[in-house]
Amino acid sequence: MTGTLDVMSDASKARRPGVIFDRDGVLNHDHGYVGQVERFEWVAGARRAIRRLNDAGVAVAIATNQSGVARGYYGLEDVARVHAAVRADLAAEGAWVDAIYMCPYLAEATVADFAHPDHPDRKPNPGMLLAALTDLNLDPLRTVMIGDNASDMEAARRAGIAGALFPGGDLERFLLSLPGPDLGLKT
Ligand SMILES: [Mg+2]
Repeated sequence: MTGTLDVMSDASKARRPGVIFDRDGVLNHDHGYVGQVERFEWVAGARRAIRRLNDAGVAVAIATNQSGVARGYYGLEDVARVHAAVRADLAAEGAWVDAIYMCPYLAEATVADFAHPDHPDRKPNPGMLLAALTDLNLDPLRTVMIGDNASDMEAARRAGIAGALFPGGDLERFLLSLPGPDLGLKT
């Protein structure tokens, strides 16, 4: 009996595949320092992509640099409001994100509280990605960072996961076109 329980607890600890999305330029159009809900415009296929991952049992995280906070363009409460709207929009389509990570720090901050010479969470540093791997119990071999610029790809490299550069267009179509790792998505 004890043996059976051990097997079950091992199975419950099995690592999951995951997708970590950059936010601006991937999930929403990058209008530059998007700190207001009204300026958050979903990319085509983004919500469908996330729901498809949810349905396949793939964990979904967002990892976003928000230097607009350090620059004084908007506050943490504004970011929280945007992310609440993101979650609400997803919920309306039966989708969700398992975790949202954001980094408000910047070396050239004008808001002293958010000044940091090289914060471990600010991409291209891998802090947010490493947190996602741990928090969501992800299998690094089956986790991919989808971003729209070089710092996203570098963060993926430093975290030891695959990176995929989103060129724009329909995000669901892009997700389904990825050569690997195998996330178990049905096309
Ligand atoms: Mg981006």
